[in-house]
Amino acid sequence: MKINQSDTPHKIKRIAVLGSTGSIGRQTLDVCREYPDSFRPVVLVAGSNAEELAAQALRWRPLRAVIASEEAGRRLNELLAGSGIEALCGQEAVIEAMTLPEVDTVVTATVGYSGLAPTLAAIGAGKEIALANKETLVVAGDLVTRRLRGSASRILPVDSEHSAIYQCLVGEDVSRVRRLIITASGGPFRTWSHQRIASATLADALHHPNWSMGAKITVDSATMLNKAFEIIEARWLFGVEPEKIMAVVHPQSIVHSMVEFKDGSVKAQLGVPDMRGPIRYALSGATRPVTSAPGLTLEAMSQLTFEAPDTERFPGITLAHLALERGGLIPCVINAANEIAVGAFLKEQIRFTDIYPLIREAVETFTENIASPEYEDYVACNAATRRRVKAMAEACGSTIIKA
Ligand code: NDP
Ligand code: MG
Repeated sequence: MKINQSDTPHKIKRIAVLGSTGSIGRQTLDVCREYPDSFRPVVLVAGSNAEELAAQALRWRPLRAVIASEEAGRRLNELLAGSGIEALCGQEAVIEAMTLPEVDTVVTATVGYSGLAPTLAAIGAGKEIALANKETLVVAGDLVTRRLRGSASRILPVDSEHSAIYQCLVGEDVSRVRRLIITASGGPFRTWSHQRIASATLADALHHPNWSMGAKITVDSATMLNKAFEIIEARWLFGVEPEKIMAVVHPQSIVHSMVEFKDGSVKAQLGVPDMRGPIRYALSGATRPVTSAPGLTLEAMSQLTFEAPDTERFPGITLAHLALERGGLIPCVINAANEIAVGAFLKEQIRFTDIYPLIREAVETFTENIASPEYEDYVACNAATRRRVKAMAEACGSTIIKA
């Protein structure tokens, strides 16, 4: 990826927010509110929440509001009738909205695999991408990297750890990197014993100590699969070999990540745990706009601590290197299995401790890996894995009901 600071003259940036009704989407709109002369949302996209999308559209007056669910499309039409805002629905409309000539930057704030096709469309149209949807790079980092070559598009990371690494790499030569050190809060179960984790409830898993996020990523933080995903994300964003990327638990979430160079020097990026920081940095093209948001009070911080992740209690984190070593479609299998398992856990159909074994089984029983998959291969693999893991999760669920 290109690590440089933008020197384009100031002009209003026209933004498409893919997933505007979610946690990152809403915070993106907060940043647009903070800089009305710099950023203007021209496309808002949601999954199925027509009421919230319509309320946002009436507030922001974008050119277009798009909802992925065909069913919710009718409601969106009703809510926006007579407003002059174009209301569309369906997956094709979502993809097309990413390529409109009126869009300069796409913020990918949708959750899961649903980010892949719209992100590829945005790359094809040469858009700047502020990437929050890490699953796109987890599933198909290789394909995304290939598509970026020869495209005018560039990716600026929104994920706080990757924004931190990007900031540490400005002005540096990536070949001089010894290690990327990704920090992890450790999630709500960091101090819990094996036995206690085995009885964790949904409410326990959703109670993140430092960040307020969407439900899926909050559960991924509790299993620490989120950190595995972030290692994969870093591998593709920065082109650094997997063995040079590691995670360290830092419960205070103040040091957002670090880069160690070959001369032994370590650069870190620090800040309050607030996603509007990395969103601001990405939207501005790394130009650091002035903000009145509160900064760090280092004197108020008694200590910053670091510890190695416990892979016995949190085996999910080991899936990063397994995914990168085996490559091909394996990361896609892991992601699809995780989405189905986490979805079942969110519906309280399986236990928290069923999530990792389901993913592991999905990987071990997958026999059709290929080296350099194309888009259609990912589509097929994602669909097949979801079907397989759904059946496995249902079997898990019936065991719970019988017990
Ligand atoms: P949320 O669940 O809060 O929001 C997801 C958004 O995506 C909602 O607007 C949802 O719409 C929309 N959506 C769902 N399905 C589709 C679809 N098929 N097409 C278009 N839009 C869809 O998630 P988060 O904001 O927490 O996370 C978004 C992404 O950012 C994830 O990939 C996550 O890993 C990453 N991330 C999040 C962080 C955070 O602090 N939240 C931090 C770092 C990364 P609807 O409301 O209608 O369902
Ligand atoms: Mg993160």
